[in-house]
Amino acid sequence: MKPYPKLPTHPQLTAETFNEKGMEVLEGFDVFNETQSVLGRPIRAFVRGSGPIRVLIWTQMHGDESASTFAVIDLLHDLQQNKEERIWDRITLCVIPILNPDGAAAYTRFNALGVDLNRDARHLTCPESRFLVSIARDFKPHWAFNMHDQRSIFAAGNTINPATLALLAPSFSDEYSGSVMHRKRAIALIGSAVSQLPTPFLSNISRFDDTFYPLAMGDFFQELEIATVLVEVGGSESIIRHAGRSLAARFLKEAIRVILNPNAQVWQTAPGAYESLPPNTNRLRDVVFANANIDHHVVDVAVQLRYNPKREAWDMICDTVGKIDYFDAYVRIDLSESPSLSSTQWHFEIGKRFQLPSMWETFWEQQNIRSYQWVF
Ligand SMILES: [Zn+2]
Repeated sequence: MKPYPKLPTHPQLTAETFNEKGMEVLEGFDVFNETQSVLGRPIRAFVRGSGPIRVLIWTQMHGDESASTFAVIDLLHDLQQNKEERIWDRITLCVIPILNPDGAAAYTRFNALGVDLNRDARHLTCPESRFLVSIARDFKPHWAFNMHDQRSIFAAGNTINPATLALLAPSFSDEYSGSVMHRKRAIALIGSAVSQLPTPFLSNISRFDDTFYPLAMGDFFQELEIATVLVEVGGSESIIRHAGRSLAARFLKEAIRVILNPNAQVWQTAPGAYESLPPNTNRLRDVVFANANIDHHVVDVAVQLRYNPKREAWDMICDTVGKIDYFDAYVRIDLSESPSLSSTQWHFEIGKRFQLPSMWETFWEQQNIRSYQWVF
């Protein structure tokens, strides 16, 4: 599957950019319904097809999770290109691209009120969450794909392979109504679709944490008796999520093929494939400065890179300081040859922006990270 050429992968994707450069992937779609975000940005659900199987996909309910939208753009582009596969009399597809356009513009997880829309499924305090639930009730999908990005810290099970794609059939509690059947269908769908992917991809696919969150949309949708699949696009060797975008798009394409496949055998063999997906494990950090000498104490420093849209560059966020042998790193920089840093030059606050000590800058630059894939 080729990425849609007019929208190259970028950490930030706003509704304005999508409207300007991505709308042609929705040619042939009609507006099913629309509303406005807290700040008055339009949010639209697009629909195409006349088939009996209804599928809903929404993206970027967390505004800073653009890779999942890029994956859906590529899926839509691919469906347009492959005209020989006549699907539109078998499927009706509803897509809500960028459910949280205010969050996308501000590059934040939250909406303009500061609400995490994925924790607003029951209270529906925000127009964005109300819109999503109204589409679910009016469109009545048989299948739903809840598209997200996950942090690069996750590996696939007991390995150091980045969890480039994490999948989940959300759980539900007995406290709430809902049928176990719909979760089983989601499990079978994930298993079947994953089984269709080329083997090399499987080492980068994991199962997302299946703790039940009653306020989460996926769990709520499962209760509405909609078989729901949570898709989380994760990290890879490049900080730009080309690989995750591509893998998620391929997964979605296979999932739609499976949904349209009447061959019951596919479904019967599938659940094992889901259960055998390794869990997400918190084992990776973006960069580890190893063997840093601070006042003659030797420690490692792990940092996460976070895109800063104002600078259009990556900030280093201080993650962990200590002897770090329980994490692996996408980039590891050995500072054993670096002179000792005096504690007056050493400033850090866990969870806050990390100012790289000037003495370490040459080591950072020597890694040739710029010409590698890490920082642009
Ligand atoms: Zn998310």
